[in-house]
Amino acid sequence: MPGTAGLLIVDLDAIAANWRLLAQRAASARCAAVVKADGYGLGAIEVSRRLRAEGCDWFFTAHLEEAIALKPAVPDATVVALNGLLAGNESATIEHEILPTLNDLGQIALWQSKARQLNRRLPAIIHIDTGMNRLGLQSDAVDRLANEPGLLDGIDIVLWMSHFACADLKDHKLTAEQQTRFAQALKRLPKAPASLANSSGIFLGPQAHYDLVRPGAALYGINPTPWVENPLQPVVTLTGKIVQIHKVDTNGTVGYGAEWRAQRPSRIATVAVGYADGYLRSAQNRTFVALDGTRLPVIGRISMDLITIDVTDAPSDRNGSAIAPGSEVELLGSSISADELGEQAGTIGYEILTQLGKRYHRRYQGAVA
Ligand SMILES: *Cc1c(COP(=O)(O)O)cnc(C)c1O
Repeated sequence: MPGTAGLLIVDLDAIAANWRLLAQRAASARCAAVVKADGYGLGAIEVSRRLRAEGCDWFFTAHLEEAIALKPAVPDATVVALNGLLAGNESATIEHEILPTLNDLGQIALWQSKARQLNRRLPAIIHIDTGMNRLGLQSDAVDRLANEPGLLDGIDIVLWMSHFACADLKDHKLTAEQQTRFAQALKRLPKAPASLANSSGIFLGPQAHYDLVRPGAALYGINPTPWVENPLQPVVTLTGKIVQIHKVDTNGTVGYGAEWRAQRPSRIATVAVGYADGYLRSAQNRTFVALDGTRLPVIGRISMDLITIDVTDAPSDRNGSAIAPGSEVELLGSSISADELGEQAGTIGYEILTQLGKRYHRRYQGAVA
């Protein structure tokens, strides 16, 4: 595919296998799929249609606009907007059959007055903050709901929801505290199904599962339990093309700032991927690409559209030819995971996936026809 930065292969079969593994771990709890930020950068519509065919019937997005864009792809599934019900969005939420998340008493009141106006009950998720301090009802608001259940008249509570802050950190104290606070809040509130676990939360065991689990990252192959081997399959393969090879003499420098200096006569390959494609500039001097499983260091500064690789020690490729313009190198895949690239770039695999740029040619394996 000429004119593209590289090839991004998204393995929907692997996403489906990951969803089945998570659903099995969640036992009797329903297993949803979080597909916000365009399915963690991999394509919310493609991912959701495939998972719908696997039996997944709940999809979580962040913004109402994301939910509205997704709904026609999975018309018979529940599509949630997590970020809350903003004033003025009530009619669009109803018209597109999106399930809103109510994050404070004001949003509950908005939804209630809409229900009164339409003279019908309206469904919602209510988010209880148990320690993240980001979204959801704080403890004073939970107290009010417990004492004045009339505040919920006209609203069908589909789920009481909360969200872990630290479930990906082994045995973090806040995780246990959040579980206790959620259980205590549920005891005081009207009975309805509940949901607490994200990807990592699923691995805390049955007491964190409640009625529905909400994995995102793990579907896309990110390790939800970084202290043990990743139980999920890798999903993304990203390759870039070498567009030129340079011979650099000892003491010659490469790239902006002339920060990399050859210690020996070197061969430097230039690959047509840069920070504009989400190959983060902060990864300078710490990352690798792979050629048939051999790692080659990315050297010098990362440019907008290009990176440079030291191929002095590169073996010939699997056809016995020396590395040359046109050779493909792996940026993400079986040799380099998104988690690893994230760590090298001083971030997390989530950011690597969601920053994958628009210039890659995308290919989906296992797409629903
Ligand atoms: C993003 C998000 C999730 C998914 O989290 P992962 O760590 O990607 O599994 C679940 N619930 C809420 C409320 C979220 O915002």
